[in-house]
Amino acid sequence: MPYYTVNKNAQTSSGDHEVHDLASTMGCLPAPLNRLDLGYHATCSGAVQAARSYYRDVDGCYHCAYACHTG
Ligand SMILES: [Zn+2]
Repeated sequence: MPYYTVNKNAQTSSGDHEVHDLASTMGCLPAPLNRLDLGYHATCSGAVQAARSYYRDVDGCYHCAYACHTG
């Protein structure tokens, strides 16, 4: 089951906090300092839901959580 993390910093363009799969090798992960652990989730939608308890604007990463990427 993938382990997800959310960027503590919002994207400058969209204002979204992006959710990433920690196993990603796409070079999209935030610096360790800027990661907030979301724990294990079967799907990215579970991780996005968990991230919403921290941040209002959440989006899946285009590279590693594409199914949850809404733009
Ligand atoms: Zn990513």
